[in-house]
Amino acid sequence: MAPRPIGGATLVAGVFGDPVAHSLSPVMHNAAYAALGMERAYVPFHVRPPELLRALQGVAALGLLGVNVTVPHKERTARYLKNNLSAEARLQGAVNCVINRGGRLVGDNTDAHGFELDLRELGAPVAGRNVLLIGAGGGAAAALLALKRLGVRQVTIANRTRARALRLARRIQSVAATVTDLDALAQPALVADVGMVINATSIGLGGEPYPPLAYEAAPSDCVFYDLIYRREPTSFLRPAIDRGFKTADGIGMLLGQGVHAFELFNRVKAPVVAMRHALLAALGRS
Ligand code: NDP
Repeated sequence: MAPRPIGGATLVAGVFGDPVAHSLSPVMHNAAYAALGMERAYVPFHVRPPELLRALQGVAALGLLGVNVTVPHKERTARYLKNNLSAEARLQGAVNCVINRGGRLVGDNTDAHGFELDLRELGAPVAGRNVLLIGAGGGAAAALLALKRLGVRQVTIANRTRARALRLARRIQSVAATVTDLDALAQPALVADVGMVINATSIGLGGEPYPPLAYEAAPSDCVFYDLIYRREPTSFLRPAIDRGFKTADGIGMLLGQGVHAFELFNRVKAPVVAMRHALLAALGRS
């Protein structure tokens, strides 16, 4: 179905980020509105950190349906909305969508849900297995929560800032987790018995090289998953592809979190096929 023209009754949702121009959320949500013939629009807003609070107040003032919140605003938005958080946002200490309920803003987080859905679809070997999780920010918190729900045995969290990894391990306490530095990634023992290696850092977003990692020591059924999505394989995934491992990038997680956010903003069932198709087309994969 063709998009409905913007008119006097058009309702608006959007995404706050800095930067935001690279975001595929507008493509995905507007494809959903077009598929359902809804007179709604989803718009990117370039919100710099000093403007975040005023921008959030604008969601209520302008009567937006809601907004997604992306890097670097997720943790600060959770602090601003600390009295109106879903259990999921509270657990992750981060908000990725703000829903406008008649002028009351509610912070929620659909990232763990999106990641869990994608791992189930991939059939990733997580239940009863060990996993290496690289990174300790908002994306890593979502991944850790999803791994817990999928029955992971033990998670090693490797991060540049050790204190942040320790905070993450404490936040989601019911997972058995140990913490290490990025230098340890080169040690074969770290990956020798893992079912997955997950990159949840932003290393590679701009095409930069990944720190040395002992790919060759991973079991043959190990899945390498990068939360980053780009047109070309990332510097984290490239060596895994070359060695014949199963790999995935963050496009499935993006779709999963977007589907859930769409349903929270619009209170209708999301057209998943149209949303997936729009994302893949935007990345030149369809
Ligand atoms: P955060 O800013 O919360 O965390 C960034 C993480 O990357 C931290 O672990 C940080 O380490 C690490 N990092 C950043 N730069 C470097 C560097 N130069 N060297 C080593 N480590 C570094 O971001 P998010 O967790 O929200 O996002 C991380 C990535 O995951 C992003 O690329 C984002 O696009 C992607 N993502 C994808 C999603 C999807 O739907 N596919 C959903 C959520 C995130 P330190 O703690 O030391 O600063």
